[in-house]
Amino acid sequence: MDNSPSCLAVAEPTAPYQFHSSSGQERWVEVLTDCPSVEELFTYRVPPDLSLQPGDIVSIPFGAQITGGIVIRFLDSPPPGLDPQKIKDVEEAIAAQFFPSFYWQLLERVARHYYTPLIIAIRAALPPGLLRKSQRRIRLNRDALPSGAETFCSASAQAVLRLLQQQKAGDYSAQHIQRKIRGARQGLRELLKRGWVESYLQPPKRPRPKQQKAVTLVANTLPLDLTPRQREVIEVLRRKGGELWLSELCKSSNASSSAIETLERKGCVVIQYREILRLSSEGTVTEDSPKALTSAQAQALDCIRNLEGFSRVLLHGVTGSGKTEVYLQAIAPLLERGQSALVLVPEIGLTPQLTDRFRARFRDRVCVYHSALSPGERYDTWRQMLQGEPQVVIGTRSAIFVPLPNLGAIVLDEEHDSSFKQQQPTPTYHARTVAQWRAELEDCPLILGSATPSLESWVEIQQDPSTSCHYLSLPERIESRPLPPITIVDMRRELHQGNRSIFSDALQTALRTLKQQGRQGILFIPRRGYSTFVSCRSCGYVIECPDCDVSLSYHRVHEDATPLLRCHYCNHTQLHPPQCPECASPYFKFFGSGTQRVAQELAKAFPELRCIRFDSDTTRTKGAHRRLLERFAQGEADILLGTQMLTKGLDLAQVTLVGVVSADGLLHRSDYRATERAFQTLTQVVGRAGRGDDPGQAIIQTYTPEHPVIQAVYRHDYHTFTENTLKQRAEHNYPPYGRVILLRLSGLDEGEVQATAEIIAQACHNILPSGCEILGPAPASIMRVSRRYRWNILLKFPPSVGEKLPDLLQLRALCPQSISFALDVDPLNIE
Ligand code: ADP
Ligand code: ZN
Ligand code: ZN
Repeated sequence: MDNSPSCLAVAEPTAPYQFHSSSGQERWVEVLTDCPSVEELFTYRVPPDLSLQPGDIVSIPFGAQITGGIVIRFLDSPPPGLDPQKIKDVEEAIAAQFFPSFYWQLLERVARHYYTPLIIAIRAALPPGLLRKSQRRIRLNRDALPSGAETFCSASAQAVLRLLQQQKAGDYSAQHIQRKIRGARQGLRELLKRGWVESYLQPPKRPRPKQQKAVTLVANTLPLDLTPRQREVIEVLRRKGGELWLSELCKSSNASSSAIETLERKGCVVIQYREILRLSSEGTVTEDSPKALTSAQAQALDCIRNLEGFSRVLLHGVTGSGKTEVYLQAIAPLLERGQSALVLVPEIGLTPQLTDRFRARFRDRVCVYHSALSPGERYDTWRQMLQGEPQVVIGTRSAIFVPLPNLGAIVLDEEHDSSFKQQQPTPTYHARTVAQWRAELEDCPLILGSATPSLESWVEIQQDPSTSCHYLSLPERIESRPLPPITIVDMRRELHQGNRSIFSDALQTALRTLKQQGRQGILFIPRRGYSTFVSCRSCGYVIECPDCDVSLSYHRVHEDATPLLRCHYCNHTQLHPPQCPECASPYFKFFGSGTQRVAQELAKAFPELRCIRFDSDTTRTKGAHRRLLERFAQGEADILLGTQMLTKGLDLAQVTLVGVVSADGLLHRSDYRATERAFQTLTQVVGRAGRGDDPGQAIIQTYTPEHPVIQAVYRHDYHTFTENTLKQRAEHNYPPYGRVILLRLSGLDEGEVQATAEIIAQACHNILPSGCEILGPAPASIMRVSRRYRWNILLKFPPSVGEKLPDLLQLRALCPQSISFALDVDPLNIE
């Protein structure tokens, strides 16, 4: 950062941000520059003839260059210790009110609630390089130009005028003018003030679809002279559906592009530039019109359409009840009125069907925004949104910050989903929380949709007596299709009856008939890597912490170390017992069976079933989710086998069987939210079955069939489950009744991390108001990640105490350089 004017650096201010300048003659502003490596705000003087607002885009001198910046706030006096003589002037205002006025208030609220410096919150929201890429242009205002205008102005202004007049459109980039004319800046300022020229930001071009090389298999019979290696490459291409991007084929077949060109010369494949793969349905959605609604849908829509101003709606609809159709018909009149809508979904890659349905209804007025877009694509999409055309933006959590003007509604689909929460880096925001603030600021409705609403949303809707809060229910599936009946299989009995396979008799029977009936099934395995609990193979007993009501985690620092069981809430630690405390059986099951192993077992037991694995290994490449789901939808496999990923938004009529290979990995987690999450996940995955005309069924295998979560899922009973879980939460003051903040510490030196954690916990005792519980410090359940040791401190307090908390960022000062300190406000995951 050699080129930065170091004397201008100011620390992050602690004073509240001011959104309007006070009336003094001399004014200063703090500006966020568009240099990614620069963290601080810089102070500039506002020339008396310049009128600015926070959020305006300005050009500023920065080191030796002129760069773009955003005015963040006004200062009443220059920062102490800064010589006013050395403060430079803002060069020019480029675009006024680039952002809607509420925008800065929203970011400020995020910064405050999540204990994040404002600048970090702003950077998290804005796409990188937004300003640098924005070209400022100057255009002649011919109507305002009096004849003989030149005679009124300075030499440099005359030169600028002459340059602009020579061109037909009278329009150049500011940069071009400055290159052509010495001292153009003075002249430009003068002309702008007289109104003879105007300055504007070049609107973005429509993002141009990128073309890349695709390989298509064309030969039905292969030439005889192919080497085994070449046949292998062809085989990979065939397996992947006969068409792939060249780069992907190279990667998955481990061949060079010249090897594939050889195959082209032999007439086996064709290589062509393409925008999209033919086999991908993106861009080929068929037109679609509003459906005739069921009476429950109609009632819900009626309520939503009549909302005025800020209001909250919880749309609680069982899986397959047609929530998406309600969103679509709620949004249509907004677009007609010239308003936009923001639709947030958990993960774009997992919901291609939802995106397609929106495209089919609203065509090119749908715009997709998520963090997997390249910086260039994100930038283009942003600028395009700023134009203010009515549109529907579908995006993941970061899309809550898109600058859509004139918002008519915000929708969060699958609002219970934990991917709406950012775990790191800061700000650790929850998109639902931010969405609520945004809806308040913009005075528009917020619609939360789910088959299994989060306890937070449930309680808020129930407790808020105001008329701006609505609970809408879609209790039935479309066409009164039944929810799939569920069979709970007790895996202990399977074992006692001598079945050592991971598939119970019931599941084996179902898998066998699946093929005969030409239908498809889903096999679900809880996400791997999380299942670190231990249970007795004989009686299902799970070892729990005596004080905390959570299962103990299984810890082994390295291969040969003695395994320990530990509660990472309170740090209770014990040796792993040699025998089950309940039934004295010496056999324990260490939970953790991955998709790979299940796929192997499946292939062994049912060689005739074709299976697609859908997990983090097979979906790593861009667009892989969509491709795998499409192949499954087209019937290229009988079984889709995967983790949590396949619980979301999958709507396939031909899926009649859902098998949960082992539910236990979800049940006994050492987190107070484990049961809520398990209920949601199991209900969602079961809900993938029987969405078409053929009835579905679900089979859940577990070692603890009597577990309340299993029982609630079995009865499709959200209400009883929720009531019971809420009672437990209330008893222990956990959310949604109390609030929680997690302090995470990590470092390479185990002792140092622990010692620092203890110091910080002590400091917490000193600075936090009474009523705030301090739990820990205790090691995180996965204690060492990437060679760093991790310790946590959990703060738990009633919401009213939350308002009295001191600035927790000050605790960072107690950490040595080598220890990293992070704050997770309202964490979803405290393991
Ligand atoms: P959810 O999001 O609640 O799980 P979906 O919106 O995916 O449910 O709807 C399930 C299926 O029913 C979809 O295939 C959808 O096209 C269809 N559907 C929705 N509403 C209607 C309706 N009113 N009439 C006929 N089919 C509908
Ligand atoms: Zn036992
Ligand atoms: Zn404990």
